[in-house]
Amino acid sequence: MIRENISEVKEKIRAACEKSGRSPEDVTLIAVSKTKPVSAIWEAYEAGIRDFGENKVQELMEKIPALPSDIRWHMIGHLQRNKVKYLVGRVALIHSVDSLRLAEEISRESLRKGVETDLLMEVNIAGEESKYGVVPSDAALLAESIAALPAVRLKGLMTVAPYVESPEKNRLYFQKLRELSVDISRKNIDNVSMNVLSMGMTGDYGIAVEEGAVYVRVGTGIFGERNYTDKQPAE
Ligand SMILES: *Cc1c(COP(=O)(O)O)cnc(C)c1O
Repeated sequence: MIRENISEVKEKIRAACEKSGRSPEDVTLIAVSKTKPVSAIWEAYEAGIRDFGENKVQELMEKIPALPSDIRWHMIGHLQRNKVKYLVGRVALIHSVDSLRLAEEISRESLRKGVETDLLMEVNIAGEESKYGVVPSDAALLAESIAALPAVRLKGLMTVAPYVESPEKNRLYFQKLRELSVDISRKNIDNVSMNVLSMGMTGDYGIAVEEGAVYVRVGTGIFGERNYTDKQPAE
């Protein structure tokens, strides 16, 4: 089932690329495996997926050693500063940086470990009260502050768009995120690039790709519904 789902998602990405004149190689599918067991991740791995997204540090730390080392792990969930030390050096990209204090902690820990850590800034593009992320009007200033830190590199923006029945409704927000990234890149801030847009989930990734997503984060569409009442799978 997972293999078939992946084929379907990839096909939809390809179609969205064709519609918008983009190349499918410019879009990376992140399989969001939170709450799912290692066995399900293996299935996706065997179907060719190498990018996986998780939103809890504890769960990541359990899964990383149980799976192949060529997997690129993406931290996509809200991150507390006291957990940064576990992540640095082990994940390919942290998508959820929404404060200078968090970026400072990541830089400090990266210096300590002698690595550089790639980041995305999470933006609350629709201004939803329930969502993490910086408000769009603060994004440029935060990018400038992050640029001054020695051991992190800001690569772009991430957003979690509103939950909608009709994905077309989110097109505007994906456009807004892209416009914001263009505005910030025009400032030519040293040490900051805005090439990456992480946007689009199971309900709306096709639209996100049409609007320029570089990473789409698809969980349910690959692994099926999540059951949060189960205890975390231990394998
Ligand atoms: C869970 C999650 C996803 C995947 O959501 P689906 O709707 O299951 O595809 C994507 N991004 C973030 C930040 C998430 O927490």
